[in-house]
Amino acid sequence: MSKLFTKGDNLDPRSLTTLRSALGNIDASVRRTVRMPAHSFTPPVQERDYLGWRDPSAPQRGYLFVERDGALEGIMLTRTRTRTSQQRAVMCEFCRLPRRFEQVALFSAPTSLLKRDQSTFGTYLCVDLDCNARVNAMRPVTQLDPPAEVLVAARRTELATRAQAFVANVLSKTTTG
Ligand SMILES: [Zn+2]
Repeated sequence: MSKLFTKGDNLDPRSLTTLRSALGNIDASVRRTVRMPAHSFTPPVQERDYLGWRDPSAPQRGYLFVERDGALEGIMLTRTRTRTSQQRAVMCEFCRLPRRFEQVALFSAPTSLLKRDQSTFGTYLCVDLDCNARVNAMRPVTQLDPPAEVLVAARRTELATRAQAFVANVLSKTTTG
């Protein structure tokens, strides 16, 4: 992760300005309403391949930050309600670990700054944007599996790649706010 994320166990609240300005798919008026999480990050930010949380003042909103080519990039996502009939076990598109339906939610990029002719698109993600909590806890199931540290390292690489690609995709479809 970026240097911003390696200073301590948790983000300094003074980092909020930096994080807000890295959110590339919302305009300044929305950026001002972004709130830091009320809780500490578990796992701590150093053990994460992306930084994400839901806004304590607006729980339908989620924020997702990655480091790409040495730069901090972030997007805001909006949680989409799904109908009861669609609620079943689903897989988070980032960590690819199966979860129960209430542990995964459909998140979409807000449409206000999407370029013309771009329809909104969504992806199923761990509802608290905490994929690393699950990935870091992965352990071998059989004797044929590689050791835990190898399993976790491989999955973390995939997680980082998927999160970076998703953020890049959303930003590529967004006009500059
Ligand atoms: Zn996940």
